Amino acid sequence: MQRKLAILLEIQGMELRLRELDADLAAVPKRVAAIEAKLSSAQQNLARAQAAQSGSQSERRGVDREIEALREKITKIRSHSGDVKTNQEYRALLDEVAFAEAQIAKHEERLLEIMEQADALDSAAKEAAAALERQRGEVRAESEAAQTHSAAVQAERATLAQSRDRLRADADDTWLRRFDRVFRMRGQALAAVDREACSGCRVRLRPQFLQEMAQQDDRLFVCESCGRILYLETSGVDVSSC
Ligand SMILES: [Zn+2]
Repeated sequence: MQRKLAILLEIQGMELRLRELDADLAAVPKRVAAIEAKLSSAQQNLARAQAAQSGSQSERRGVDREIEALREKITKIRSHSGDVKTNQEYRALLDEVAFAEAQIAKHEERLLEIMEQADALDSAAKEAAAALERQRGEVRAESEAAQTHSAAVQAERATLAQSRDRLRADADDTWLRRFDRVFRMRGQALAAVDREACSGCRVRLRPQFLQEMAQQDDRLFVCESCGRILYLETSGVDVSSC
């Protein structure tokens, strides 16, 4: 294989690797977002647990207030019991007291339930806080790993781009222009001849065309169908020995 082609083949290999690296870098924000999404679900769990906890606490305060108000009411009723004139009025007072006491008993039952649930709610909130802390640690580690990976990819990219630019300076201008145009258009600019066809588009090549290719090593042969630069895989590619 002649040197002009060997250089282009090597440039193409580098461009393809650069494309992979760019795709890798482009995927980093999505990866970081996925890592951070884990954190947000743990944060939501904690917020829910804390909301349940404070909801229960405020219900408990409300029930306490109700009980207190009912007790005051009973005291007030009893303080007025000397004012009643008739038995009927007196019975009405007793009924009112009995009713208030029944309400207090109901509230006290609810209070017991709330206190029983409070322990479970407290430990759920504690667990959610611990889970969030663990998740934060994992996210930190994963973010650091993503950053390290990104930095490595960027370093490889920079080195590779430099090597490619050095090779481009060595490449034949006309061949390089065609290479760039086809690479942009087709994703690959070079295609090997494979079983008498262009391996890029699978169109068969004329026997005379193939014969010319074999004989004229220094000419640029282009697939008439897809425009890719054609080469024969006769010998290994080695730019350094050219
Ligand atoms: Zn072709």
